[in-house]
Amino acid sequence: MKEKLNRRKFFKVTGAAVAGSAAALSGVNYGFAPLDKTEQTLADYSPYHRTDMQNVPVINMHTHVRDTENNTTTEGLDAEVKSRLAVMDKMNIKKDIILVSSRDKGERIALHYLKTAPERFIYYPGLDFNEMDKPDWPDKMVRHMEENVRIGARGLKMILGKPRTQEFCMPMDDPRLDPVYARAGELGLPIAYHSNDPEEFFYPPNRFNFWCGGEHQKDKGFADRLHELVSREELIRQQENMISKHPGTTFILVHMAFLNRQLALLADILDRHPNVLLDLSAAIEELGRSPMESAQFMTYYSDRILFGTDGSSHTDWEPFLHRHFICLETDEDNLQGPYRRAWNIHGLNLPKDALENIYYKNAEKLLAQPVIIPK
Ligand SMILES: [Zn+2]
Repeated sequence: MKEKLNRRKFFKVTGAAVAGSAAALSGVNYGFAPLDKTEQTLADYSPYHRTDMQNVPVINMHTHVRDTENNTTTEGLDAEVKSRLAVMDKMNIKKDIILVSSRDKGERIALHYLKTAPERFIYYPGLDFNEMDKPDWPDKMVRHMEENVRIGARGLKMILGKPRTQEFCMPMDDPRLDPVYARAGELGLPIAYHSNDPEEFFYPPNRFNFWCGGEHQKDKGFADRLHELVSREELIRQQENMISKHPGTTFILVHMAFLNRQLALLADILDRHPNVLLDLSAAIEELGRSPMESAQFMTYYSDRILFGTDGSSHTDWEPFLHRHFICLETDEDNLQGPYRRAWNIHGLNLPKDALENIYYKNAEKLLAQPVIIPK
């Protein structure tokens, strides 16, 4: 099929038409096809149409599964996996990494995905905090993690950075977790870590609050309980302790560590800790609020950022993925972000090299690292 027009080529062509002579245009292949009745429509030329990146493979490092009314039976689950694979094929997603925070939530579904298409799905389960106050809990969790590796796990998922979780659990740098973090490093298991929450959750939900200003987001914040909960600064300190104590363990700070509005601090963390990677999931709408700064950061650190979406069993995957790609690849204004939040954003227009790193090269490197399967 002939190559389709993209924006950059369009500008080049129109520039040439203005500056050059009409003769220069005739008979020259400008790399785009004229509108062809049989296979193209004007939609192919719209800014919301992906062009030269659609053949680049993608690895989605942050997905979930969850109970829905349709996946309670084996047949229902089979149908869910089949439709997810069909979208992955269509959108050129080579692998989905499925994160499951706690044992009872989603494990059954994740293992079914893994069994059905082991070459397409990778599973990072969590820990079980039920008996965390017992003295043998750290040992038990190390064994629990090893057992998970034997049944197919290739990483660990942690979510202690949510202030409301930490209230009844433990800090990220709690010494009880040190044996787990250290063993994860020895085995070669990366830890996908939810280590904070959006900045606005910590502020009052008024009309100036991006996240919590809209009616439907009000319940997400916890500004009224700030005095009882761990602060954002304290979470960053815990994260720092944890990462510095375990330089041999790879930490993937998910959602860009929720420091999308403090990129200078995030740059500092990356510079000081080579064992830290970031994932982009649910962060594009934040990054798109200051697109030029974000694009600069993401280009400079493109070898440390992994593509992720946070989508799950109920997600309408194709348009959801499409919104991610358009926001990352184009310089369109007033775009709906992947999550269609209360605000629209400016596309990040990342260079191709940076996109290739983020879409698959960094993930390929990470997934190629050997995982030791304990006896
Ligand atoms: Zn998630």
